Amino acid sequence: MSVQVAAPAVELKELSGPMDKAAGPPCEPVGAHPPGHGVAVAPCPLSATEREAALAPSCSERPPGSGCPGLSSSAAGLPPGAAKVPQASAMKRSDPHHPQHRHRDGNDSSGAAAEALVSPDGTVSEAPRTVKKIQFADQKQEFNKRPTKIGRRSLSRSISQSSTDSYSSAASYTDSSDDETSPRDKQQKNSKGSSDFCVKNIKQAEFGRREIEIAEQEMPALMALRKRAQGEKPLSGAKIVGCTHITAQTAVLMETLGALGAQCRWAACNIYSTLNEVAAALAESGFPVFAWKGESEDDFWWCIDRCVNVEGWQPNMILDDGGDLTHWIYKKYPNMFKKIKGIVEESVTGVHRLYQLSKAGKLCVPAMNVNDSVTKQKFDNLYCCRESILDGLKRTTDMMFGGKQVVVCGYGEVGKGCCAALKAMGSIVYVTEIDPICALQACMDGFRLVKLNEVIRQVDIVITCTGNKNVVTREHLDRMKNSCIVCNMGHSNTEIDVASLRTPELTWERVRSQVDHVIWPDGKRIVLLAEGRLLNLSCSTVPTFVLSITATTQALALIELYNAPEGRYKQDVYLLPKKMDEYVASLHLPTFDAHLTELTDEQAKYLGLNKNGPFKPNYYRY
Ligand code: NAD
Repeated sequence: MSVQVAAPAVELKELSGPMDKAAGPPCEPVGAHPPGHGVAVAPCPLSATEREAALAPSCSERPPGSGCPGLSSSAAGLPPGAAKVPQASAMKRSDPHHPQHRHRDGNDSSGAAAEALVSPDGTVSEAPRTVKKIQFADQKQEFNKRPTKIGRRSLSRSISQSSTDSYSSAASYTDSSDDETSPRDKQQKNSKGSSDFCVKNIKQAEFGRREIEIAEQEMPALMALRKRAQGEKPLSGAKIVGCTHITAQTAVLMETLGALGAQCRWAACNIYSTLNEVAAALAESGFPVFAWKGESEDDFWWCIDRCVNVEGWQPNMILDDGGDLTHWIYKKYPNMFKKIKGIVEESVTGVHRLYQLSKAGKLCVPAMNVNDSVTKQKFDNLYCCRESILDGLKRTTDMMFGGKQVVVCGYGEVGKGCCAALKAMGSIVYVTEIDPICALQACMDGFRLVKLNEVIRQVDIVITCTGNKNVVTREHLDRMKNSCIVCNMGHSNTEIDVASLRTPELTWERVRSQVDHVIWPDGKRIVLLAEGRLLNLSCSTVPTFVLSITATTQALALIELYNAPEGRYKQDVYLLPKKMDEYVASLHLPTFDAHLTELTDEQAKYLGLNKNGPFKPNYYRY
């Protein structure tokens, strides 16, 4: 049966649509931060002032725009005759200090990096928020020279929190914990004789390849892009330096970028999340990857440096997740920006920094904010949480959901996902809200709207999803019944007042990884998950399909920035055009054998729409 795919963006070179013929920038750039936030990652460990100071290269150093020949629709994998896509737009900025601008990894977009503490059992917790200062050598970065095992272990792990939050999607089953030799001390070659990589163990490549093949099954859009770009290569000549989580899903993205013609060099944006076998598989297939699970802070920057500081190769595109790579280049190799055509940034924190740079007139190249694309946001907040709340609870507690009384605090996107999942499992769900509109939605969806105090004594599970602080206080915790499970799906570890539980009269008992019993003097115990940090990121996995949405958005943003004609994008931060969001969704529809209805000419005229989209105005809320 044939599958109807939305008439999407045309030629990839024209992803910015009707403006493509005009060289001029299509939209007002802004210093504007779009609404929303989302998933993702790591605050740059530089302090705000250091960062500002680092961003010195004069924008005038950059050569005038850099248009590249685009590719035909066939090469781009787009249906012939598809309409042109409107150009990425810069949008009004909302208050970056609003909690909604915090990344779901719990990072405050204000730029303050939470330090991570590693306890002997390997769990990571957040230390009081301080701004980490990284020392730079004046001329050349000096990395620790072959520290001893002990020396390496004792290196500070106090880098940005998102560089330490982990959400690997698979267990690293081939890790041999007795192999403590640092990858930096090993001489390794892949089967083709290349040693331009640094991974834990190249021999794990075969296992990694299997992980990648599994991920490919759930990443249909990238696979479609690969197939459709078999002839012309939209990223031919692109030299992409990337800094993201190195997982099977990232591998599918990297191999897609390679298939589209790009050369890539990659480091990890997180010291814990690298899947060693996947990194090995990438290195084996010729990708210069510098990453392993459990990097020290020094390793982290060394890996990034090895990606950019290489003879005979200079990046012309950046794909960043958290801003660490971007700021490393600003700080250490500002002249590289003369050749760089654009930055694609995924995380809330990284995006916020780009807006700060733009506002200060220090952004040297155009940047694409993929974090706030509509499709990605919807998947991160609603659909991902709808699945991962059950996964996180089940993995940590083995509980049965049917008949349990649950209170969900906050009925926004995350709360709606959690409520829907638990209701479907037969739980009795209560909701707390401060906003009458969301409260009314909860009522319409069949949930009892209550104040937390009214149900706190009777519920079996408390879940916070507000993006707010101190939603569950010590008073609430005191009143909970024995065995009540308490967890957070919202912002960082601020929603539950965990600090108030660290008092002498209460006993903490670690019963499993990420599961603590907090015991009152009378024997009552509550079950605290992930010490109040995000349950799903700490205790479950992010579904590959969700990551597929993000990866496809990143790939299209790279193609757009790389191929944009001179002058289309200024040195500012742009949102993806809605048409591109629609295209990302279209590419995922065939998975479901979904048949999209096409507008008739008459209907299109009646609605005032182009038959090929975009189908909704920017302000539309899905
Ligand atoms: P949202 O703004 O749509 O929803 C939050 C809701 O909480 C709002 O309706 C708000 O009125 C309500 N609220 C605020 N204070 C409250 C209080 N004291 N009591 C009851 N309700 C209150 O935001 P969202 O998209 O649902 O995201 C919520 C949080 O989850 C954010 O911090 C976001 O960064 C985070 N997030 C987590 C994940 C994850 O994977 N766990 C994914 C995306 C976002």
